[in-house]
Amino acid sequence: MQDVVEKVYEQVVTRNRGEVEFHQAVHEVLESLGPVIAKHPHYAEGALLERIVEPERQIMFRVPWVDDAGQVHVNRGFRIEFNSALGPYKGGLRFHPSVNAGIIKFLGFEQIFKNALTAQGIGGGKGGSDFDPHGRSDAEVMRFCQSFMTELARHIGPSTDVPAGDIGVGGREIGYMFGQYKRLRNSYDAGVLTGKGLAWGGSLVRTEATGYGTVLFAQSMLSTKGESLEGKKVIVSGAGNVAIYAIEKAQQLGATPITFSDSSGYVVDEAGVDLELLKQVKEVERGRVADYVERRPGARLVTGGSVWDVPGDVALPCATQNELDGDAAATLLRGGCGVVSEGANMPSTPEAVEAFQKAGILFGPGKAANAGGVATSALEMEQNAGRTRWDFATAEAKLTGIMADIHDSCVAAAEEYGRPGDYVLGANAAGFTRVADVMIAHGIV
Ligand code: NDP
Repeated sequence: MQDVVEKVYEQVVTRNRGEVEFHQAVHEVLESLGPVIAKHPHYAEGALLERIVEPERQIMFRVPWVDDAGQVHVNRGFRIEFNSALGPYKGGLRFHPSVNAGIIKFLGFEQIFKNALTAQGIGGGKGGSDFDPHGRSDAEVMRFCQSFMTELARHIGPSTDVPAGDIGVGGREIGYMFGQYKRLRNSYDAGVLTGKGLAWGGSLVRTEATGYGTVLFAQSMLSTKGESLEGKKVIVSGAGNVAIYAIEKAQQLGATPITFSDSSGYVVDEAGVDLELLKQVKEVERGRVADYVERRPGARLVTGGSVWDVPGDVALPCATQNELDGDAAATLLRGGCGVVSEGANMPSTPEAVEAFQKAGILFGPGKAANAGGVATSALEMEQNAGRTRWDFATAEAKLTGIMADIHDSCVAAAEEYGRPGDYVLGANAAGFTRVADVMIAHGIV
């Protein structure tokens, strides 16, 4: 790291003590920016780096709610409005017991560059709560969402800040939050949240977008080597929104996904995942991966070790941050893996990224490879603003075009800064320069 960049990183660590995921995300971006700053020293002037690592606004609030037995619970809510240079803050809400300020900050920071890569005029933000929806009734989830939105509503709006889903927040939660927002504001602002139901302002392809985009990104990376996904064995982690639709698109492109996982273990289905059964278990019944194995002859559940122990040609980490460490990367490489496309945010640890890059395989970092979700959220906002709705083919064609553009921007930036094929540098440099140029144009604000 250059001195100037090192100094900014040290300040981030000092100012945000104990927020290790945030430190990690900042380090990864700053580390890439060395060649950018060397070529364009003006980016280090005017404290631009210091400004970009500091959120514009951080909101933290109490979320009291009552369970079905009448007991009162108190969770903590967050919204980090990180950077609005390119447009309204945009980024999901995560409901998971592990949520804290550092995790939301890392996600918000990544979101700035991801959203810039989509070229759709959206700033970066993220939010959530340490609420755990697992095992809660619909009525409990509704009361929690209503209490959460009662505070959040003061801070968001179609031109201000537009949240969406993430881990633990899907169509059900977005529905309850939208209902409460509408009630509080007495205003049908469809563009205030994305990931809405199709009958009330949602966009076709939004549900599929992140998983589809991750696979399209893998396909684009492979095409630079004259290859495709056809006939490839795919290892997928997670069994939520991103994982399910990554499996769907991989199957459409002729690959064979053979695994998925949740926090109870992973499933290996050598015959290829039965997608309809997986959707029934996870989307309809909100069950566990074991429920799939019970109904699928030949599939097995593994409760120890890691899904990355299973050999395959392509790995799609689609669960959570730091789920793929250096040892797992070494195992994947030994098993012949030649492509990693990150559906989750920061799923590979720095050691894993280093191992993939050293081995020279195709590695697509999350902020590029999973940008299809937020890109389609921006398409949802566009449809809401125009009071229109596109058909599936139109929305999917737009998503496909955006993912191809993101891929090409990463390739071009990696070449410009002297590291062809380095998608980490490419994504960080292309995203950063787009935001930084606009921050400079807006002056010191
Ligand atoms: P979901 O809640 O739909 O699914 C998450 C899946 O990952 C579940 O199977 C869950 O298992 C598993 N998981 C989560 N945390 C852990 C953990 N600590 N250990 C083991 N398994 C875990 O979330 P999404 O599919 O929406 O999100 C997955 C990833 O993709 C996240 O990193 C998210 O930030 C990222 N992402 C999502 C986007 C979207 O549009 N939804 C957009 C861009 C990125 P269990 O149910 O057992 O917890």
